[in-house]
Amino acid sequence: MADDRVNLLGLPRAELEAFVAARLDAKPFRARQLMKWIYRRGAADFAAMTDLKQDFRARLAEIAKIAVPQIVTEQRSADGTRKWMLRMDEAQGIETVYIPEPDRGTLCISTQVGCAMDCSFCSTARQGFNRNLSVAEIVGQAWLAHRELEGEAGARITNIVLMGMGEPLANYRNVVPALRVFTDDLGYDLSRRRVTLSTSGLVPQIYKLAEECNVALAVSLHAPNDELRDRLVPINRRHPIGELLEACWHYIGRQNGRSVTFEYVMLDGINDAPEHARQLARLLRGRPAKLNLIPFNPFPGSGYRRSHAATIVRFRDILNDNGVIATIRRTRGEDIDAACGQLAGKVRDRTLVRLGSRRNFSVRSAEVR
Ligand code: SAH
Repeated sequence: MADDRVNLLGLPRAELEAFVAARLDAKPFRARQLMKWIYRRGAADFAAMTDLKQDFRARLAEIAKIAVPQIVTEQRSADGTRKWMLRMDEAQGIETVYIPEPDRGTLCISTQVGCAMDCSFCSTARQGFNRNLSVAEIVGQAWLAHRELEGEAGARITNIVLMGMGEPLANYRNVVPALRVFTDDLGYDLSRRRVTLSTSGLVPQIYKLAEECNVALAVSLHAPNDELRDRLVPINRRHPIGELLEACWHYIGRQNGRSVTFEYVMLDGINDAPEHARQLARLLRGRPAKLNLIPFNPFPGSGYRRSHAATIVRFRDILNDNGVIATIRRTRGEDIDAACGQLAGKVRDRTLVRLGSRRNFSVRSAEVR
């Protein structure tokens, strides 16, 4: 018989309250109790929820479940970074990375199996796109990491970044409820500043997000002019830099006063000349913007090289001298292929659709809703 029980993992508070009211004739506080069990105490079994009446638990188990993804492998980097591969379907996997730092612990989660954006320097792009993750699969990554880190001295999730596999704004419908669970005080209770959504630049969805959910925004810029960005980040052909930046300033305007973090991968001889830094400064000076320079992380057959360390430092200095705050991202987890752009997961049955290819018709449906 088909399992038609509702998966409670990832249901935002309002939906869970509606669910217990409609299906169990229960008061909203039952939903709040459930959330505490699921997220704070990491319960996946109703039987463990001892402050709920036994018959309530029994009825719950008939119509609902807490189904979490399954861990296939775990790798640990020499620097303490951990990477989990999670099984999604028969032959597919996605990756989640935990990055410990002295003052925080960042969880980097995936939002799609593969990615259709086709950025030329990213190994996830090489996998192609298979499907969107469900809300439960997105939130399930935090649930699992929380469980795995439990009891380890100093390990805890203080920040969540949507910087794993996939383009979060192309899976808008499932990403927004997940963001609500991350920021809900009965969910993972993270402040909006500690949850960061990174996008390659889906302009219409940035406007939509500004109205619905003000988490921190990161934007993968990677080039200071359209000619170059068209090649590196093909979505630029649809939403060029001028439009993208307008959307960013609008987003910040709706949030009163924080800044957008622009990610900029440093590719040797491609986008790392002093003139590029000056162009960037002209785009961003006086704006609510910070620049995060990411040394390129190589993968087999990428065709790119990382900029020299001295070039990256000079690039940063030009930006800083021209009134733009720029920092260099420290590469983490490189030895286990957990660094930015190295998450490949396991993508089968991929739709052979990428933005950069000529056959890009069906990307629209994934991207625009
Ligand atoms: N699709 C979203 C989320 C991914 S975030 C986005 O594009 O923003 C991952 C970040 O790592 C992005 O800024 C991405 O451009 C960057 N990245 C991709 N490949 C990389 C590589 N090989 N080396 C360094 N950074 C890379």
